[in-house]
Amino acid sequence: MVNDFRGSGPNRLGRLTPEERGLLESMVMISPDLLEVLACPVCRKPLVLRGEDSLKCNECKRVYPIRNDIPILLEAEATIEQL
Ligand SMILES: [Zn+2]
Repeated sequence: MVNDFRGSGPNRLGRLTPEERGLLESMVMISPDLLEVLACPVCRKPLVLRGEDSLKCNECKRVYPIRNDIPILLEAEATIEQL
């Protein structure tokens, strides 16, 4: 029997195979092409992906949520991130 070291131990998540990694990345539906056309509705600056479920404008610091893979680019829905 083959000893599958990935199946046990506390570091399971730290030992992702390339296949598993690719699967996780494919779950992020916002593609670079889409990002290029997304702009902040307030200041018209390009948005950057922040985590997996929000887009951030580095100009005005507004963070727009992504719900069901759809970016909600509404000023009323945005939160302003204070640094
Ligand atoms: Zn902005």
